[in-house]
Amino acid sequence: MTIRIYRAKHGTKHDLGKTHPESPDRLFAIDDQLLASGLDMICEHADASAIAEPYLQLAHDPYYIKSVFERAAQANFSDEEKTVYSSGKQTVAWLDEDTGLMRHSLSAALESAGAGCNAVDWVMEGEDRQAFCATRPPGHHATYDSAMGFCFFNNIVIAARYALQNYDLKRVAIVDFDVHHGNGTEHIVAGDQRIMLLSSFQHPFYPHCGSPVSASNILAVPLEAGTTGEVFREKVAHWFNALNNFQPELILISAGFDAHAEDPMAHLRLVEDDYFWISQQLREVADKCCKGRIVSMLEGGYNLSALGRSVVAHLKGMSQPKTT
Ligand SMILES: [Zn+2]
Repeated sequence: MTIRIYRAKHGTKHDLGKTHPESPDRLFAIDDQLLASGLDMICEHADASAIAEPYLQLAHDPYYIKSVFERAAQANFSDEEKTVYSSGKQTVAWLDEDTGLMRHSLSAALESAGAGCNAVDWVMEGEDRQAFCATRPPGHHATYDSAMGFCFFNNIVIAARYALQNYDLKRVAIVDFDVHHGNGTEHIVAGDQRIMLLSSFQHPFYPHCGSPVSASNILAVPLEAGTTGEVFREKVAHWFNALNNFQPELILISAGFDAHAEDPMAHLRLVEDDYFWISQQLREVADKCCKGRIVSMLEGGYNLSALGRSVVAHLKGMSQPKTT
């Protein structure tokens, strides 16, 4: 097994309060299941470094980036435009109704984006390497110029364009199986023919877009509420031919696990074995097209037990290419 897991120093410090579903407990739950499964012992481990600010411009408007830094400074030092928790222990600058900056959030967001670039460096500098970024905040709702849905910077697009730029690649694929449509990712990569985006999501559902697609480099699989794993597998089956035809030089995964049947946020019926299956399929494509190179980044997943178990299934699938 050559999977390397990236974690970040501030990943468990970005904390918007006990009622916020995108919580530090998500990373603790993943770590618990990695330990319980024995995977933690056989994976490699690495610390993510904060991304250098200029790389954020691979996906974002410079004025937006500046505004996030300014709001983060407000969360630290200003008494204006803050919500004070009843505990009085921390203050938050809210960028939308559920996306807020407290004093550790900017560091966590920079490390989350940095993890993707660190992981790209690692998989590109060897062969048969896969990486998983167990970092937060997630990124796929962040658009070119706005924060949204718990996301500040679009980690997966930054990683994709970092790989294209730094390793002179021509084709990179992003696969997003989070239950929510990755509207930010689509917003940024639409029309960028170097990137193929394959995306499945509950529809109609938050963020209420994604179908029909906005550009020819995007393949969308909208799924109605109640969709089972069996139907999910049928509906995404064409992805693998599409990927084989595109011949990506690197596969990136926006790995959200909130399509799990136990997840409270949405209404799909996937189980761990479905995450094992899709991950193994993607590994098979990666073995054919790009020397096994995969970088997977955590997006959603809010039932803590299901999230931890699903990440284990994902890593097992990614590490076990089909032999038949
Ligand atoms: Zn989600």
